[in-house]
Amino acid sequence: MNQPVSAVAGIGPRNEEVLATMGIYTVGDLLTYFPFRYENHEIQPLSEAEHQQRVTVQGTIHSMPELKFFKGKKSRLTIRILADGLLVKVVFFNQPYMKKQLILNDTVIISGTFDRHRLQITGAIVKPVEKIERGGLEPVYSIKGDLKQHQFRRFVEQVTDGFIHDIEEVLPESLMSRYQLMERKQAVYYLHFPKDEQAFNQARRRMAYEELLLFQLKMQWFRKNERQAGDGQSKSWDAEAVNAFIKRLPFELTTAQEQVLSDILSDLSSIERMNRLLQGDVGSGKTVVAAIAFYANFLAGFQGALMVPTEILAEQHAASLRELFAELKVNIAHLSGSSKVKEKREVLEMLASGEVDLIIGTHALIQEGVNFSNLGLVITDEQHRFGVAQRRTLKQKGLRPDVLFMTATPIPRTLAISAFGDMDVSTIDQLPAGRKPIKTHWGKRNMLQRVLAFVDKEIEKGHQVYVITPLIEESEALEVQNAIELHRTLTEALPHRRCGLMHGRLQHQEKEQAMADFQSNAIQLLVSTTVVEVGVNVPNATVMVIYDADRFGLAQLHQLRGRVGRGADQSHCILLADPKTEVGKERMSIMTETTDGFELSQRDLEMRGPGEFFGVRQSGMPKFKVADLLEDYRILETARNDAAKIIQSGALFEHDSYRSLLMMLESDIAFQEEKVD
Ligand code: ADP
Ligand code: MG
Repeated sequence: MNQPVSAVAGIGPRNEEVLATMGIYTVGDLLTYFPFRYENHEIQPLSEAEHQQRVTVQGTIHSMPELKFFKGKKSRLTIRILADGLLVKVVFFNQPYMKKQLILNDTVIISGTFDRHRLQITGAIVKPVEKIERGGLEPVYSIKGDLKQHQFRRFVEQVTDGFIHDIEEVLPESLMSRYQLMERKQAVYYLHFPKDEQAFNQARRRMAYEELLLFQLKMQWFRKNERQAGDGQSKSWDAEAVNAFIKRLPFELTTAQEQVLSDILSDLSSIERMNRLLQGDVGSGKTVVAAIAFYANFLAGFQGALMVPTEILAEQHAASLRELFAELKVNIAHLSGSSKVKEKREVLEMLASGEVDLIIGTHALIQEGVNFSNLGLVITDEQHRFGVAQRRTLKQKGLRPDVLFMTATPIPRTLAISAFGDMDVSTIDQLPAGRKPIKTHWGKRNMLQRVLAFVDKEIEKGHQVYVITPLIEESEALEVQNAIELHRTLTEALPHRRCGLMHGRLQHQEKEQAMADFQSNAIQLLVSTTVVEVGVNVPNATVMVIYDADRFGLAQLHQLRGRVGRGADQSHCILLADPKTEVGKERMSIMTETTDGFELSQRDLEMRGPGEFFGVRQSGMPKFKVADLLEDYRILETARNDAAKIIQSGALFEHDSYRSLLMMLESDIAFQEEKVD
């Protein structure tokens, strides 16, 4: 199984190179390189075939082959066959070598495109009879370079012929019989050459289960190791003080907030390190939960760090935390990219000496030369995608604080347990009472004037409005240009209102000023690029207008919409877009139909598939050969439960029946670590 592919007849150094680019190095790799689709080549009578349909027929060769060469290496080979009582002309392109193999009166199986009017099959290839007996489903592989399908198929045929019996079962008998799983070697074979659809389905189910089980075992094993390290700090604090803090809040916590808070506090007091994802829809009140956690951490004598994706958000969190902690002795510092060098140095010194209790900054916070005196808790807002990288950075710095990720992009459960299988997940599934769901409307772009009339009325009532300009991925300059122009249009259209402007090219000071002006209602309209996307909180804003809304993804639209609906008044979101595609239209409709972030993300996932859902590169999403996270959702759940039992009971390490699985897992992990470092 571990022999190099060159052990296979027909694979020389050249093919070896191409196969390497496909990630195929060993015989085992080749065996588990599965087709991405199959062509149905069941023999069918020509009388049933339609014009221009791809057909596979059986017939006898009725005429000598005629071969013609053209310019370059092009050639055409023609024969006639007698099939189903019809004399059919068969044309092969660029396969001159076939001439020798097509022998008068031989029986052949041929497939190609059928021209009913001329009784002709073109683009033909000849199939060996035994392949048809394999069920007629012909594998099609994703291949690279100048490798040809038929060549690659031959390689696979050779390895299955030569090595299939070396494939050993890896799953224990108990699981095999519980789920009635097909044997591994059988499944591998059928995935290449399915006998029929049922065999294929069974083979697929078995391999998907194996893959997902291995994956879950790996995740849970990591998690167990990390916990067993026992290197977390068990924190204790004055619970009365925390309760008093909660009582002093201007509102009561929702039941959901209380629930996640209790998860988090028990993590903090536990000797195991917290590694938790807190998801809650926009406006569900995650910040205050974070604040309470920081307070407990502070009372226990530890420093905290809050990391956010943008400077604006850092600013805002710093302000709201300062307010929440106003009467307490929590020393809060804010490290920003625009801080003066001297200021920065002072903050860093106070952080290292332990004078600063809570530091707030962008993601760069832990990456720079920042030293803590005793960091106990790191909370990251709206940036779950960087989870893995961040943990690695912390580890490299020798820091092992409790870690909480907060996200307002709800993750469908399937993805949460696959992408974050090594994390605990808490969910705030409830908005504070009294919030009215945001009304969402979708109109054509040329309705701007009508929208402005509506906007004007809202401002008349004392409310404020965001106008988001289109996302232009190719050019920030153009994006900024758009914002400037729209700002001018609005200023002219509503001269009696004050309109602010916000975009990425403004100086830090200018951005801060614009935000402060909007915050204090000195400006009523804020024209902005997506800089305001995450976290910004101005409860008096009730209208969100999104220009060219079809340029944004659903998650982003939901985020933007979440900037309104934060107070007691009815809020509106107006999408201006003329989407050209059906998908674009569907996205707009979905937005008008639901304000539930979980439902939205589920539908987004269904429309886009898991890879794109997260953005392929940052995702850290696992890649599977057979399993599909959406389709195999149930298998995933089953595998997850099984993995938990196998790890917790210790069976994986103690029982002989799990030995192959353990070995597979160990080599997989070793391989991965090699790649990471
Ligand atoms: P997000 O989860 O999007 O980060 P925030 O933490 O910014 O939400 O909270 C949104 C708003 O709701 C804030 O103004 C906050 O003060 C308020 N809020 C939070 N929790 C409650 C609650 N239990 N009752 C009423 N208002 C709340
Ligand atoms: Mg927030």
